[in-house]
Amino acid sequence: MAKMCSKFKKLTVGVNPRNKNSYTKSLFYLIIFHYHIAIAAMEIVSKLINKLIILLLILIIELILLIRKLKSHNTHPITTPQFLKFIEDKHPTICYTKRMKLDCLECSVCLCEFMEGDKMKL
Ligand SMILES: [Zn+2]
Repeated sequence: MAKMCSKFKKLTVGVNPRNKNSYTKSLFYLIIFHYHIAIAAMEIVSKLINKLIILLLILIIELILLIRKLKSHNTHPITTPQFLKFIEDKHPTICYTKRMKLDCLECSVCLCEFMEGDKMKL
């Protein structure tokens, strides 16, 4: 762009309006100069628009994710105590006695043998 500006200044400094050839030539370069300015401006604007579109898309995606998260949280509210109660209802804690007929007599987690009074879940 700076190159174009200096070129245009050099061309218009010695222009004599009475000299038709010189005038036409300078007019031609003036049009070319404005054309190049317009092209450069359009490039800048198109880059800005591209960045704006990308920014807007990211914003829209973030908004959709936020709305979905808020909605799902409101429709399925479950707290830790509620979750623990749910597990307790499904698999109640029982106390081990030797009278119980179990297939396996050792804990599948720690491999310890069950003793009278141990609390367990089946
Ligand atoms: Zn165990």
